[in-house]
Amino acid sequence: MITRSPADVQSVPLALPQERAPWQRQLAGVIRDPHELCRRLDLDPAWLPGAEAGHELFEVRVPKAYLARIRPGDPHDPLLRQVLPLGEETLEVPGYLADPLQEAEHTPAKGLIHKYAGRVLLIASPSCAINCRYCFRRHFPYGENAPSRAQWEASLDTLRGDASIREAILSGGDPLAANDRQLAWLVARLDAIPNLKRLRIHSRLPVVIPERVDDTLLGWLSATRLQKVLVLHINHANEIDEALIAACTRLKNAGVTLLNQSVLLRGVNDSVEALAALSERLFEAGILPYYLHVLDPVAGAAHFDVPDDQARELVAGLRQVLPGFLMPTLAREVPGEASKTPL
Ligand code: SF4
Repeated sequence: MITRSPADVQSVPLALPQERAPWQRQLAGVIRDPHELCRRLDLDPAWLPGAEAGHELFEVRVPKAYLARIRPGDPHDPLLRQVLPLGEETLEVPGYLADPLQEAEHTPAKGLIHKYAGRVLLIASPSCAINCRYCFRRHFPYGENAPSRAQWEASLDTLRGDASIREAILSGGDPLAANDRQLAWLVARLDAIPNLKRLRIHSRLPVVIPERVDDTLLGWLSATRLQKVLVLHINHANEIDEALIAACTRLKNAGVTLLNQSVLLRGVNDSVEALAALSERLFEAGILPYYLHVLDPVAGAAHFDVPDDQARELVAGLRQVLPGFLMPTLAREVPGEASKTPL
């Protein structure tokens, strides 16, 4: 096994520019105003009061590269449904909670979540490029979980002190919303922990701003000895455009295994046709379907729910039209369980 001392790690040559990269300029220019979102997409003003009410609870955040894939004038567009706040978000629905996965109970150090054996999840960035209305972390106290480098060291000590941990998972928010200097530093520190074999990154950023996959990102990803897995988050075939396919090709050429997880969402992908088109399109982009999650019962997202029986029927229908390797596993995350629970 190749390992590096911290001193070696600090000397890893990484060309990290000081200026804002194009993806960072896009990030700075995301749409944050429900009025602007509705105006740019030519939506009927009747959608505005609901959009404002939802925005009060969880702010609008839509990158322009994502906006460009939404059909103007169509309030039912499956991509728009994922980002447009609705009045339904203000409803209190029994069983829908602020922390549906009880993550607050599994946080032994700031920015670290240890739920599953052999894997540890690190909150690498408190923010996202896009705010997905169904997000199970829409109420997560990111402000309390945005560690400094010194606090990172405490998390890294947890990983160093437990030889059973083989995999570090960078999550968020969106971990790729962090700047490359921070990520290169963190990944180099992880690289130096002998028991770690894999680096897994869960991100939606390359989907919503494909320019995120630039030379700098590929530089620090290529520099690590760890096996690399990027789990993208794509819910609909229309999210996969040529820019994303090009980004995926660059990632694959850098030795990154690409998987996808989706959430089953009413009004977005709750048909056999939509799910089959998603799997086909993922494979065209070099991504394998991994999980199809049922919705986590987070407060404000009940209107996206697809009942379990319907979810099973959809997956049975999907099996009729897809080869096995394009079938995602239908699963639910149950608080306290040692793994995801297949349905
Ligand atoms: S990108 Fe992921 S973490 Fe961020 S809002 Fe969307 S679902 Fe939530």
